Amino acid sequence: MLKYDVAVIGAGPAGSMAAKHAALAGANVLLLEEHKEIGWPVECAGLLGLKALEESEMSLGKFAIQAFKGADVYSPKAKVSFKAPSIKAWAVSRKLFDRSLVLEAVRNGVDLSFGSYVKSFRRNDGSCILSTGDDREIQARVVISAEGVRAFVARMAGIAPPDKILSGAQVELPFTAEDQEKVELHLGPAPGLFAWVIPLGNDMARIGLCTKENACFYLRKFLKMDWMKGRILGSPVDLVVGGLPMGPPTSTVAEGLIAVGDAAGQVKPTSGGGIYPGLVCAKAAGKVAAAAALEGDSSKKRLGECDRLWRARIGQELAVGMRLNNLLTSLTLEELDEIFAYLSRKPELLRLVEEHGDIDRPSILALKMLPHVGIDGLKLANLLRKAFF
Ligand SMILES: Cc1cc2nc3c(=O)[nH]c(=O)nc-3n(C[C@H](O)[C@H](O)[C@H](O)COP(=O)(O)OP(=O)(O)OC[C@H]3O[C@@H](n4cnc5c(N)ncnc54)[C@H](O)[C@@H]3O)c2cc1C
Repeated sequence: MLKYDVAVIGAGPAGSMAAKHAALAGANVLLLEEHKEIGWPVECAGLLGLKALEESEMSLGKFAIQAFKGADVYSPKAKVSFKAPSIKAWAVSRKLFDRSLVLEAVRNGVDLSFGSYVKSFRRNDGSCILSTGDDREIQARVVISAEGVRAFVARMAGIAPPDKILSGAQVELPFTAEDQEKVELHLGPAPGLFAWVIPLGNDMARIGLCTKENACFYLRKFLKMDWMKGRILGSPVDLVVGGLPMGPPTSTVAEGLIAVGDAAGQVKPTSGGGIYPGLVCAKAAGKVAAAAALEGDSSKKRLGECDRLWRARIGQELAVGMRLNNLLTSLTLEELDEIFAYLSRKPELLRLVEEHGDIDRPSILALKMLPHVGIDGLKLANLLRKAFF
């Protein structure tokens, strides 16, 4: 039987980062990935804010495809636009991004085992025993589940599911974008979050949406809408579907196991972006898993330090995001139009968006907007107030 201090399940961004930080903290670490290739299949639009890139601890590499300075945001009948002087986000190749993160982990001493599907988890005398699809057994003091949204092993260990799981779908196709440095966001085409158009700089774009259910149905409808006519230049060459978990459970640790990333619902509820929170939380998971393993104490109580560490860094941001998400999804299309019409009459609010807009920390912008919303923007003011107080 293979023996490790820490075993990490899943070589997505959260798993690679957790494995690297566990190794940096002195543990011997095994990273297990079910697929035979890293970064595939892709379940992502690959839009990363600057904070996510910073948290990746890598300089901008071959994975970066297109830079963005702003956005056109649409409600059914209105539009607001903004463009900052500097870059705010990047479209990346998730395949290359994930491979680079794995490489960083391996360079720091992590053992990688791909083609290794973990099918069961059990506790044995203060340790954990994992068994794989090809019937190997691995003993680890601490297991980190970075399995993504399915989180089968995490549920087996007793981690509760997230508050909700949205359905996402995206195609990549030839497309004419008005401005290659702006993403397009559309509120209203489906019940849930929003639809996006992410130009890739070579007459290609990623167009997708995330909704309460049946994302493929709503995406087909969205692609046939009038404003798409003449912009779509050919058939899709790629289709991505997946779930977006939101609202982490009360505890992300169990006896012997820490859940991180999508497996722990650590996703921004305002955008469905999981890479930034996943990377932040993975560092806490790696550090605590290594320390607990080296101390020989993998109890839920000991691993609870991880829960405290990640909540101190981004717990409040995710909680506020969840309230904003619930409020936004409860608005009618008419109310959305009213709020957008109000914003488009207020250049000072759009300037704040250009200055402080950050897809990784939307609450900072929302707080800055609050004092600038006048009596005529009561609906928006109430929305922001309800999210914060
Ligand atoms: C349509 C869509 C668009 C998105 N767009 C964005 C975006 O633009 N920006 C952003 O930040 N986020 C986006 N997300 C969310 C983002 O993709 C996830 O939050 C992110 O991939 C989560 O990283 P992770 O490491 O937690 O899990 P994952 O990336 O899902 O990695 C989990 C890994 O674990 C492996 N695995 C699972 N179970 C086992 C097992 N039992 N044994 C071995 N291996 C296992 C899987 O094969 C996988 O490689 C999007 C999601 C969807 C669905």
